[in-house]
Amino acid sequence: MNPHNQTWWENASSDEINHHQSKLLSNFLKYRVLPFTRHYGDMFAEAGLCAHDIQNTDDLVKIPFTRKSDFSETRDFVIIPHAQLLKKQWPSIQLLLRHGPGRARQILEKELLPIFMTSTTGRSADPIPFLYTRYDLDRLEISGRRLMEICESRPSYRHINAFPFAPHLAFWQAHYAGLGFNTFTLSTGGGKTIGTDGNVRIINKIKPDAIIAMPTFIYHLLQQAADEQAHWDKLKTLVLGGEKVPQGMRTKLTDLCHQVGAENIRIVSTYGFTEAKVAWAECSPPTGEKPSGFHIYPDMGFIEVIDPETEERVPDGQAGEIVFTQLDARGTIVLRYRTGDLIEHGITREACPYCGRTCPRLQGKISRVSDIHRLKLDKLKGTLVDFNKLEHLIESEPDVGAWQLEIRKHNDDPFDVDELIVHAVTENNKEKIKESIQQRLQQEIEITPNRIEFHSWEDMRKLQGVGTELKEQKVIDNRPKRK
Ligand SMILES: [Zn+2]
Repeated sequence: MNPHNQTWWENASSDEINHHQSKLLSNFLKYRVLPFTRHYGDMFAEAGLCAHDIQNTDDLVKIPFTRKSDFSETRDFVIIPHAQLLKKQWPSIQLLLRHGPGRARQILEKELLPIFMTSTTGRSADPIPFLYTRYDLDRLEISGRRLMEICESRPSYRHINAFPFAPHLAFWQAHYAGLGFNTFTLSTGGGKTIGTDGNVRIINKIKPDAIIAMPTFIYHLLQQAADEQAHWDKLKTLVLGGEKVPQGMRTKLTDLCHQVGAENIRIVSTYGFTEAKVAWAECSPPTGEKPSGFHIYPDMGFIEVIDPETEERVPDGQAGEIVFTQLDARGTIVLRYRTGDLIEHGITREACPYCGRTCPRLQGKISRVSDIHRLKLDKLKGTLVDFNKLEHLIESEPDVGAWQLEIRKHNDDPFDVDELIVHAVTENNKEKIKESIQQRLQQEIEITPNRIEFHSWEDMRKLQGVGTELKEQKVIDNRPKRK
């Protein structure tokens, strides 16, 4: 195994990966995190720990978790180097000796000077900024290239990046993926810049092989394209990010792709979060077989899966919360970051059945425990409701096109009872669909919607905010706040 070879992580053994990750972690803590990141310097001091106590990834459990609520002073999570301390470090001295002070300074600036930023998208909380240095941007290009490879793209393909223009990881990861893979990528900015119409027109002209976007937005795009009898017959891959992708959505997207003449379509979902500063993709065969899980780059981060209650690591293959540790980032960094995301079948280190890569994979559905729906809407009509399940039930209704769940108060009176309204688009028998939704919701989650209202595609786009919101709204809480 040669860690300088960019593809070593694809076929290294579990032991080799473990060994390399431990080495990365130990150096990262010793030379970058503990001397220069205030939050972790203080945390180690308070816990009576030093760099020497963390020799390998198993030792990580000695370090307290980092939670979103810890980011009150985001500056404390940035690697801010002090010249004096740097000069005392062996790697920095080597740099000086080899390149001379002027050049060494340039190299260190490229590594350590923040020049770029993304931020979290939280609607409930203030956005949290994450700084990147040139070093991180190079990593974003490398991870982007890996995404393209796992999605089985080709440099000769034409790509459309339809994520909204925003300082968010999804857009920039897709942009840097194009650069890193040295392939044609047109970023349209999604619906907010040129509307659904504008995107459809551009795609008609460019005839892309792959489209990268949020699932709900691409669903509207394909729907409109199908309506207009467009021919997107070059299209081979949809890469989805920014939202979860239930099986029902995959089926509907595949059907729509067939309608626009894209016969063999591969639908790949990706997973990433601001704090990881990279995103991961799954292997997803175009034959419709089950995806094999998100392929994690072991040289960029270490993932633990824990029981969110006991906070202990769970064995491989078992469900739990995803906890992320940077191994080699600069700018803003996190150690043992509690994502609040639950992974259904945990982590596996066995070779991927499709591509054979041996990197760790996160398997199964991801549900966000920190999701606004859970926090705010858990008690609907006095009953505890699993919103993940509710959304899944509606999504898997084969005759329902786009949909939205609306929660409101009867008569808009904050003290009156909750109402659940299902908004839906369909081209089939409305009465039959109404009955089917009511029956399934009653059976599976013991709740009956107050109303099911049908809309045209155009009205649904307005309801969901396609073209006006950064993210289409599929669940909306219109309950007035109590004063
Ligand atoms: Zn694979």
